[in-house]
Amino acid sequence: MGLLALGTALDWPEAKKQAHLVRSWGIKQLLEIWNKAKGKERDAMLWGDEVEYLVVTYSKDDPKVLLSLRQADILKALASDTALSKAKCAPPLPDGSNAHTSQPPPVFHPEFGRFMLEATPGKPWGIEFKELLEVEPNMRLRRCIARDHMRANEYPITLTTFPRLGCPGVFTEPFYPVSGPRLRSQFVPDEIANPHIRFPTLAANIRSRRGRKVQVNVPVFRDEKTPWPWKDPTVNYDLHQWPEDDDVRNGAAPDNFIHMDAMAFGMGSCCLQITFQAKNINEGRQMYDQLSPLGPIMLALTAATPVYKGFLADTDVRWNQISKAVDDRTPEELGEKPLVNDRWRIPKSRYASNSTYISEDPRLRPEYLDPDLVIDEDIKQQLLDGGMDDRLATHFAHLFIRDPLVVFSEDLEKLDLSKTDHFENIQSTNWQHMRFKPPPADNSIGWRVEFRPMEIQITDFENAAFAVFMVLITRVILSFDLNFYIPITKVDENMETAHARDAVLSRRFYFRRNPFPTSSSRTARSSSASGASTPVVSRPPTPTGPVEDEYRLMSVNEIINGSAYARATASYSNLQPADSAAAGSTSASSPEQQQKQAQAGDENDDDFPGLIPLVESYLDSVNVDVATRCRLAAYLDLIRRRASGELWTAARWIRHFVARHPAYRRDSAVGEAVARDLVAAVVQIGQCESAGQELRSLCAEQVPGLEMLLGGLR
Ligand code: ADP
Ligand code: MG
Ligand code: MG
Ligand code: MG
Ligand code: MG
Ligand code: MG
Repeated sequence: MGLLALGTALDWPEAKKQAHLVRSWGIKQLLEIWNKAKGKERDAMLWGDEVEYLVVTYSKDDPKVLLSLRQADILKALASDTALSKAKCAPPLPDGSNAHTSQPPPVFHPEFGRFMLEATPGKPWGIEFKELLEVEPNMRLRRCIARDHMRANEYPITLTTFPRLGCPGVFTEPFYPVSGPRLRSQFVPDEIANPHIRFPTLAANIRSRRGRKVQVNVPVFRDEKTPWPWKDPTVNYDLHQWPEDDDVRNGAAPDNFIHMDAMAFGMGSCCLQITFQAKNINEGRQMYDQLSPLGPIMLALTAATPVYKGFLADTDVRWNQISKAVDDRTPEELGEKPLVNDRWRIPKSRYASNSTYISEDPRLRPEYLDPDLVIDEDIKQQLLDGGMDDRLATHFAHLFIRDPLVVFSEDLEKLDLSKTDHFENIQSTNWQHMRFKPPPADNSIGWRVEFRPMEIQITDFENAAFAVFMVLITRVILSFDLNFYIPITKVDENMETAHARDAVLSRRFYFRRNPFPTSSSRTARSSSASGASTPVVSRPPTPTGPVEDEYRLMSVNEIINGSAYARATASYSNLQPADSAAAGSTSASSPEQQQKQAQAGDENDDDFPGLIPLVESYLDSVNVDVATRCRLAAYLDLIRRRASGELWTAARWIRHFVARHPAYRRDSAVGEAVARDLVAAVVQIGQCESAGQELRSLCAEQVPGLEMLLGGLR
C-alpha cells in the first residue's frame, strides 16, 4: 500500500467534497516532478521485489489453523531489532560466500490485512548477473527474520489467500465478532483490517461511495457431489443491524457463486511485485508498454488461488476478486442508472488491468489504444498546458477520473509543491497491473515501472525464479528492442482468460506473432537499448497490414517456450494442439528428447520464438559465468516446465491436495481439517526449504504432490 500519513481522515461524503481540490493539487504536484525529472538521464538499472505474507498460527497438536492479527506487534518487534537477527538467519550461500553482507537488513511493511506482512530487500538490486543469485537467499532471510519475531506457533506463509477467511466460527487469533461499522461485513470483523486510520477509512469510503457493500462473487467449482444450483450456505439473509444487511436480500449473492462482501477478501491476498528503474523516462515508458501484454500470461502462469471462504472456486487467480473488493463505482458509473450526478460510465474498477499504453514508440499504432478510454479532459488540458505530451497526459487524465478515497483534512490547508502526496493519493489507489512511478518529490531516484499481476508462490525458490525471470525478460526487451504490442483491449480479454481453472494449460491468449523490430522501426528508434546484438532468431520485417494479422491465439507454453517446444510437449496440456499431426504424438519421450524434437522439428512460418529461448539467446550474447548461468537455468527450468504443464501451478497443487484429503467430500467445501492440513503442508514446505540438503528429500516425501509442484526440492 502507499504512504501511511497521519491525520484526520474525512468520512465520505466529506472527502467527496474535497475530491476536486485533491485532483487539482495532485496534477500540480505531478507537473512539478515531471518538469524536474523529465530530462533525467542515466539512472541505474535497479530493480526490487516485494513479497507479501499471511501470518498464520499452526502447531502440530492443534486441529485448527488461524490468521494471526498481530501484525502491529510483529512490525514493532522487527523495527526495534536493528540487527534483525541477520547472523542467525543468514547462513552462507551454497558456494560458501555470504552474499547477505552486501545488503542492508530487509525492510518490513504493513499491508491492508492485519494478518499480512510485506518484505522488500534492504536496497534495490543492481545490474550484475551475480546479484540475481542473491535474491533467493535474501527472500529466505526475510522469511527467517519475520518468523524470528513471531510467537512459536506463528508462521509467515506465502499462500495468496487464507482458505477459511470469512468462514462461520473462529478464523482469527484473537477472535472478534462480526460485524463492525467500517466494513459492515457479515463474514469478517472490522478488526481484520490494519487499524491504521488509512485502511478502515479506505474500506468504509469505498463502501459509502458505492452506496452498498462490495460484492465479491466467485464462481464455485462444481464437484461430483456439489449440490446444484449451489447456494452459498454461509450467507445470512436475516441480519438487520446495518442498512447494508439488505444487500443479500437484494440479490447480492447469486446462485453458484461464493459470496464475499468486504475489501479484506481482495486486498487480503498476497502477491509478488517487481519494480524496475529505467535509465530515463522514455525507457520507462517503453518498459511499461512492453511488459503490459505479459501481465495476463504471468498471472496465468503463477496461478495460486483456488480457494475462497472455505470453498473451491472455479477460478485459479486472485485478480478479479481484488478488483471487485475495491470497486467504488456508483450505480451511475456502473451503467445501472442514468448519469445524473456522476460524470462518466466507467468500464473498470480502479483495481484492473491497465487501459493505456504510454510510450512514444512509433511502433505503437493508434489501433492498439482503447477508443473508449475515459479521461478527464480538463485534467488532460492542464497537463498539456504544463508541457506534457499528449500520450502521457492521456494516461494520467485517465487515472485522475477517480476520486481520492482517503483525504486528511490537515493536508488541505495549503498546496505543498515539495511533496507528491495528492498525486500519490490518486496514483496509488489506481491499482492497475502495471504502474508507472515518477520519481519522488526530491527527485532522488529515477522513473520506475512496476509489474504487479503475479501471484505469490509458496516457496522462495519459486518467488525468486519468477522475479529473476521478469528481470531477464526486461533486459531482453530492451536489448533486442522487442515489440509485444497488441491492442490493449486484447490484454483485457487475456486478463479474463487468465482466471479460468488451469488457464495455463487449457486456454489460449492473444499474443503478438512477431516480436522482432523491423529494420524500419529500428532506424526510426534512435534510442534503442544498450548495444546488444540482435537475437539469433530473426525474421524479415512484417509489412504494416491489418492490426488483426499481427497477433493470434497462443498457449502459455507457446509464448514461454516457443512454438516448436510447445508442439513437442503438447501432451502435457489440456489444449487440442492446432497442429493435428502433433496431437497424435505420444507422451512417452522424456523432456530432453522432446526438447531435441522441438529443435529438430519443422519450422513453421508462424512460429513464435518463445520468451525463454529469447532469454537464452540474450544470455548467450552477454558475459555470464558458468556457475551463474547454471543457477539461472534452474529458475528458467521451473518456468519452462510450469508453462508446458510438466509441473503444476500452486493452484493445481492445492486442488490436488484438497481432492485427495480424506475429509474432503467432493462437495466443493474446504473444511477446517483440510484447511489445517493444507496450511501444515505449506509450513512444512517452508521448513523443508530452509532445512539442510539431506532433510529435504525426506521432507518432500511427506508432502503429497510436492514433486509435481517443484520437480523435487532443490
Ligand atoms: P510500493 O509498495 O509502493 O510498490 P515498496 O517500497 O513497497 O513500494 O516497494 C518498491 C520496490 O522497489 C522494493 O523492492 C524496492 O527495493 C524497490 N526500489 C526502491 N528503489 C528503487 C529504485 N530506485 N529502482 C528500482 N527499484 C527500487
Ligand atoms: Mg504490498
Ligand atoms: Mg510495497
Ligand atoms: Mg507498499
Ligand atoms: Mg503499493
Ligand atoms: Mg508494490
